[in-house]
Amino acid sequence: MKEIIKAEPCGFCMGVRRAIDLVEKEIGQGEDLFTLGPIIHNRQVQENLASRGVRLADIPEDVSEGSSLVIRAHGVEPELEERLMSRGVKIIDGTCPKVKSSHRTIEEYSGNGYFVVILGDKNHGEVKGLAGRADRHAVVSTASEAEKLTLPEKTLFICQTTVKDSEFEEVRDILLTKNPHTVIRNMICAATMKRQKAVRELSTRVEAMVIVGGRGSSNTKRLYQTALENDIFACHVETADELPPELHKFSCIGVSAGASTPDDIIDEVMERLRSL
Ligand code: SF4
Repeated sequence: MKEIIKAEPCGFCMGVRRAIDLVEKEIGQGEDLFTLGPIIHNRQVQENLASRGVRLADIPEDVSEGSSLVIRAHGVEPELEERLMSRGVKIIDGTCPKVKSSHRTIEEYSGNGYFVVILGDKNHGEVKGLAGRADRHAVVSTASEAEKLTLPEKTLFICQTTVKDSEFEEVRDILLTKNPHTVIRNMICAATMKRQKAVRELSTRVEAMVIVGGRGSSNTKRLYQTALENDIFACHVETADELPPELHKFSCIGVSAGASTPDDIIDEVMERLRSL
Protein backbone atom coordinates (compact mmCIF):
# COMPACT_ATOMS: atom_id res chain seq x y z
CA MET A 1 0.00 0.00 0.00
CA LYS A 2 1.43 3.37 -1.02
CA GLU A 3 1.77 6.14 1.52
CA ILE A 4 0.36 9.39 0.13
CA ILE A 5 1.08 12.50 2.21
CA LYS A 6 -0.59 15.85 1.59
CA ALA A 7 1.47 19.00 2.26
CA GLU A 8 -0.24 21.38 4.68
CA PRO A 9 -1.29 23.96 3.75
CA CYS A 10 -2.07 23.47 0.09
CA GLY A 11 -4.84 24.38 -2.35
CA PHE A 12 -7.15 27.41 -2.34
CA CYS A 13 -5.81 30.48 -0.54
CA MET A 14 -7.96 33.19 1.07
CA GLY A 15 -7.80 35.51 -1.97
CA VAL A 16 -8.81 32.88 -4.49
CA ARG A 17 -11.61 31.53 -2.30
CA ARG A 18 -12.93 35.08 -1.85
CA ALA A 19 -12.94 35.77 -5.62
CA ILE A 20 -14.72 32.48 -6.35
CA ASP A 21 -17.27 33.21 -3.61
CA LEU A 22 -17.99 36.61 -5.19
CA VAL A 23 -18.64 34.96 -8.55
CA GLU A 24 -20.86 32.30 -6.95
CA LYS A 25 -22.89 35.03 -5.20
CA GLU A 26 -23.49 36.86 -8.48
CA ILE A 27 -24.56 33.82 -10.53
CA GLY A 28 -28.28 33.98 -11.23
CA GLN A 29 -28.68 37.61 -10.09
CA GLY A 30 -30.12 38.70 -13.43
CA GLU A 31 -27.42 40.67 -15.26
CA ASP A 32 -24.97 38.98 -17.62
CA LEU A 33 -21.93 38.02 -15.58
CA PHE A 34 -18.35 38.24 -16.85
CA THR A 35 -14.81 37.82 -15.64
CA LEU A 36 -11.91 39.61 -17.31
CA GLY A 37 -9.62 36.71 -18.09
CA PRO A 38 -10.04 33.46 -16.14
CA ILE A 39 -11.14 34.15 -12.56
CA ILE A 40 -8.38 31.74 -11.46
CA HIS A 41 -5.76 29.76 -13.35
CA ASN A 42 -7.65 26.51 -13.23
CA ARG A 43 -9.25 25.12 -16.36
CA GLN A 44 -11.67 22.82 -14.51
CA VAL A 45 -13.07 25.67 -12.36
CA GLN A 46 -13.34 27.84 -15.46
CA GLU A 47 -15.27 25.16 -17.35
CA ASN A 48 -17.64 24.71 -14.41
CA LEU A 49 -18.36 28.45 -14.24
CA ALA A 50 -18.84 28.65 -18.01
CA SER A 51 -21.42 25.85 -17.84
CA ARG A 52 -23.36 28.00 -15.36
CA GLY A 53 -23.39 31.05 -17.59
CA VAL A 54 -20.30 32.99 -16.45
CA ARG A 55 -18.73 34.53 -19.53
CA LEU A 56 -15.07 35.20 -20.17
CA ALA A 57 -13.97 38.53 -21.65
CA ASP A 58 -10.44 39.16 -22.94
CA ILE A 59 -10.82 42.93 -23.11
CA PRO A 60 -13.31 45.41 -21.58
CA GLU A 61 -14.92 45.93 -25.00
CA ASP A 62 -16.01 42.24 -24.96
CA VAL A 63 -18.21 42.95 -21.92
CA SER A 64 -21.80 43.85 -22.79
CA GLU A 65 -22.83 47.29 -21.58
CA GLY A 66 -24.73 47.23 -18.29
CA SER A 67 -23.55 43.74 -17.26
CA SER A 68 -21.60 42.74 -14.14
CA LEU A 69 -17.96 41.76 -13.97
CA VAL A 70 -15.92 40.22 -11.17
CA ILE A 71 -12.27 41.30 -11.11
CA ARG A 72 -10.00 38.38 -10.36
CA ALA A 73 -7.80 38.00 -7.29
CA HIS A 74 -4.69 39.22 -9.19
CA GLY A 75 -6.32 42.59 -9.80
CA VAL A 76 -6.15 44.58 -13.05
CA GLU A 77 -4.59 47.80 -14.35
CA PRO A 78 -6.51 51.00 -13.45
CA GLU A 79 -6.79 51.76 -17.16
CA LEU A 80 -8.84 48.56 -17.69
CA GLU A 81 -11.15 49.47 -14.81
CA GLU A 82 -11.72 52.88 -16.39
CA ARG A 83 -12.59 51.28 -19.74
CA LEU A 84 -15.09 48.99 -17.98
CA MET A 85 -16.69 51.84 -16.07
CA SER A 86 -17.02 53.89 -19.26
CA ARG A 87 -19.21 51.03 -20.59
CA GLY A 88 -21.51 51.16 -17.56
CA VAL A 89 -20.27 47.79 -16.29
CA LYS A 90 -20.96 47.02 -12.63
CA ILE A 91 -17.56 46.08 -11.20
CA ILE A 92 -17.35 43.60 -8.33
CA ASP A 93 -13.82 43.82 -7.02
CA GLY A 94 -12.39 40.36 -6.33
CA THR A 95 -8.84 41.72 -6.05
CA CYS A 96 -7.17 39.96 -3.13
CA PRO A 97 -6.74 42.34 -0.16
CA LYS A 98 -3.01 41.51 -0.15
CA VAL A 99 -2.64 42.58 -3.78
CA LYS A 100 -4.65 45.71 -2.93
CA SER A 101 -2.05 46.49 -0.31
CA SER A 102 0.68 46.36 -3.02
CA HIS A 103 -1.45 48.70 -5.18
CA ARG A 104 -1.68 51.23 -2.35
CA THR A 105 2.07 51.07 -1.67
CA ILE A 106 2.93 51.71 -5.32
CA GLU A 107 0.40 54.52 -5.65
CA GLU A 108 1.77 56.20 -2.53
CA TYR A 109 5.44 56.00 -3.53
CA SER A 110 4.86 56.72 -7.21
CA GLY A 111 2.82 59.76 -6.17
CA ASN A 112 5.88 60.95 -4.26
CA GLY A 113 8.12 60.69 -7.32
CA TYR A 114 9.59 57.23 -6.77
CA PHE A 115 10.80 54.93 -9.55
CA VAL A 116 9.30 51.46 -8.92
CA VAL A 117 11.19 48.21 -9.53
CA ILE A 118 8.84 45.23 -9.61
CA LEU A 119 10.11 41.66 -9.32
CA GLY A 120 7.80 39.25 -11.12
CA ASP A 121 6.56 37.94 -14.43
CA LYS A 122 5.81 40.90 -16.72
CA ASN A 123 3.10 38.93 -18.53
CA HIS A 124 1.23 38.05 -15.34
CA GLY A 125 -2.00 39.90 -14.56
CA GLU A 126 -0.90 40.82 -11.05
CA VAL A 127 2.32 42.40 -12.31
CA LYS A 128 0.46 44.33 -15.02
CA GLY A 129 -1.85 45.65 -12.29
CA LEU A 130 1.16 46.72 -10.20
CA ALA A 131 2.99 48.30 -13.14
CA GLY A 132 -0.16 50.16 -14.19
CA ARG A 133 -0.10 52.06 -10.89
CA ALA A 134 3.45 53.38 -11.25
CA ASP A 135 4.29 56.47 -13.29
CA ARG A 136 7.84 55.16 -13.86
CA HIS A 137 8.74 51.51 -13.39
CA ALA A 138 10.85 48.53 -14.46
CA VAL A 139 9.78 44.89 -14.21
CA VAL A 140 12.57 42.37 -13.64
CA SER A 141 12.27 38.61 -13.37
CA THR A 142 15.91 37.67 -12.75
CA ALA A 143 18.97 38.91 -10.90
CA SER A 144 20.78 39.53 -14.19
CA GLU A 145 17.98 41.88 -15.31
CA ALA A 146 18.27 43.72 -12.00
CA GLU A 147 22.03 44.09 -12.55
CA LYS A 148 21.36 46.13 -15.69
CA LEU A 149 19.18 48.74 -13.98
CA THR A 150 20.25 52.27 -13.21
CA LEU A 151 18.41 53.42 -10.10
CA PRO A 152 17.41 57.00 -9.31
CA GLU A 153 17.78 58.23 -5.74
CA LYS A 154 14.12 57.64 -4.99
CA THR A 155 13.49 53.98 -5.77
CA LEU A 156 10.93 51.52 -4.41
CA PHE A 157 11.48 47.77 -4.74
CA ILE A 158 8.35 45.61 -4.55
CA CYS A 159 7.42 42.15 -5.78
CA GLN A 160 4.64 39.95 -7.10
CA THR A 161 3.04 38.06 -4.20
CA THR A 162 4.11 34.67 -5.53
CA VAL A 163 7.89 35.08 -6.06
CA LYS A 164 10.27 32.85 -4.12
CA ASP A 165 11.90 34.37 -1.05
CA SER A 166 15.39 33.48 -2.37
CA GLU A 167 14.69 35.39 -5.64
CA PHE A 168 13.42 38.38 -3.70
CA GLU A 169 16.51 38.44 -1.48
CA GLU A 170 18.92 38.12 -4.40
CA VAL A 171 17.38 41.03 -6.33
CA ARG A 172 16.99 43.12 -3.14
CA ASP A 173 20.73 42.79 -2.41
CA ILE A 174 21.65 43.84 -5.96
CA LEU A 175 19.42 46.93 -5.77
CA LEU A 176 20.74 47.90 -2.34
CA THR A 177 24.30 47.70 -3.67
CA LYS A 178 23.33 50.07 -6.49
CA ASN A 179 21.32 52.38 -4.23
CA PRO A 180 21.45 51.84 -0.44
CA HIS A 181 18.42 54.14 0.00
CA THR A 182 16.12 51.89 -2.03
CA VAL A 183 12.86 51.40 -0.13
CA ILE A 184 12.20 47.65 0.18
CA ARG A 185 8.70 46.20 0.37
CA ASN A 186 8.49 42.42 0.55
CA MET A 187 4.93 41.59 -0.52
CA ILE A 188 5.40 37.82 -0.80
CA CYS A 189 2.14 36.39 0.44
CA ALA A 190 2.34 34.25 3.58
CA ALA A 191 0.02 31.78 1.86
CA THR A 192 2.63 31.38 -0.89
CA MET A 193 5.54 31.09 1.56
CA LYS A 194 3.71 28.55 3.73
CA ARG A 195 2.92 26.40 0.69
CA GLN A 196 6.54 26.60 -0.52
CA LYS A 197 7.87 25.76 2.96
CA ALA A 198 5.50 22.79 3.27
CA VAL A 199 6.65 21.45 -0.13
CA ARG A 200 10.33 21.99 0.75
CA GLU A 201 9.88 20.10 4.01
CA LEU A 202 7.72 17.28 2.62
CA SER A 203 10.01 16.65 -0.34
CA THR A 204 12.79 15.63 2.09
CA ARG A 205 10.54 12.85 3.47
CA VAL A 206 9.08 11.30 0.32
CA GLU A 207 10.38 9.59 -2.82
CA ALA A 208 8.34 11.65 -5.26
CA MET A 209 6.21 14.80 -5.28
CA VAL A 210 3.07 15.54 -7.27
CA ILE A 211 2.09 19.20 -7.64
CA VAL A 212 -1.49 19.78 -8.74
CA GLY A 213 -2.64 22.98 -10.43
CA GLY A 214 -3.26 24.92 -13.61
CA ARG A 215 -0.45 25.17 -16.18
CA GLY A 216 -0.86 28.96 -16.18
CA SER A 217 -0.69 29.26 -12.40
CA SER A 218 2.57 30.90 -11.41
CA ASN A 219 2.40 29.84 -7.76
CA THR A 220 1.84 26.22 -8.86
CA LYS A 221 4.88 26.39 -11.15
CA ARG A 222 6.96 27.67 -8.24
CA LEU A 223 5.81 24.84 -6.01
CA TYR A 224 6.94 22.44 -8.71
CA GLN A 225 10.37 24.15 -8.90
CA THR A 226 10.61 23.94 -5.10
CA ALA A 227 9.84 20.21 -5.20
CA LEU A 228 12.65 19.69 -7.74
CA GLU A 229 15.21 21.34 -5.43
CA ASN A 230 15.65 18.13 -3.42
CA ASP A 231 16.57 16.00 -6.45
CA ILE A 232 13.56 13.74 -6.21
CA PHE A 233 11.10 12.80 -8.93
CA ALA A 234 8.48 15.54 -9.25
CA CYS A 235 5.67 16.23 -11.67
CA HIS A 236 3.11 19.00 -12.26
CA VAL A 237 -0.36 17.82 -13.25
CA GLU A 238 -3.71 19.57 -13.74
CA THR A 239 -5.82 16.49 -13.02
CA ALA A 240 -5.52 12.83 -11.95
CA ASP A 241 -5.65 11.77 -15.62
CA GLU A 242 -2.21 13.35 -16.19
CA LEU A 243 -0.37 11.36 -13.49
CA PRO A 244 2.72 9.87 -15.18
CA PRO A 245 3.24 6.06 -15.10
CA GLU A 246 6.66 6.42 -13.35
CA LEU A 247 4.79 7.04 -10.09
CA HIS A 248 4.11 3.27 -9.90
CA LYS A 249 7.59 2.62 -8.57
CA PHE A 250 7.43 4.93 -5.52
CA SER A 251 5.95 3.79 -2.23
CA CYS A 252 5.85 7.19 -0.49
CA ILE A 253 4.53 10.16 -2.50
CA GLY A 254 3.90 13.73 -1.40
CA VAL A 255 1.13 15.90 -2.86
CA SER A 256 0.73 19.65 -2.90
CA ALA A 257 -1.38 22.05 -4.94
CA GLY A 258 -1.36 25.65 -6.06
CA ALA A 259 -3.53 28.34 -4.50
CA SER A 260 -6.04 28.04 -7.36
CA THR A 261 -6.61 24.29 -7.12
CA PRO A 262 -9.98 23.15 -5.73
CA ASP A 263 -10.09 20.48 -3.00
CA ASP A 264 -12.03 17.97 -5.13
CA ILE A 265 -9.24 17.90 -7.76
CA ILE A 266 -6.59 17.35 -5.04
CA ASP A 267 -8.70 14.59 -3.46
CA GLU A 268 -9.10 12.84 -6.81
CA VAL A 269 -5.33 12.93 -7.42
CA MET A 270 -4.68 11.44 -3.96
CA GLU A 271 -7.27 8.73 -4.50
CA ARG A 272 -5.75 7.80 -7.88
CA LEU A 273 -2.23 7.68 -6.40
CA ARG A 274 -3.40 5.29 -3.66
CA SER A 275 -4.74 2.94 -6.27
CA LEU A 276 -1.62 2.88 -8.48
S1 SF4 B 1 -1.67 33.83 -3.01
FE1 SF4 B 1 -1.90 35.38 -1.39
S2 SF4 B 1 -1.90 37.29 -2.51
FE2 SF4 B 1 -2.36 35.73 -4.01
S3 SF4 B 1 -4.57 35.60 -4.04
FE3 SF4 B 1 -3.87 34.10 -2.56
S4 SF4 B 1 -3.97 35.14 -0.56
FE4 SF4 B 1 -4.02 36.70 -2.17
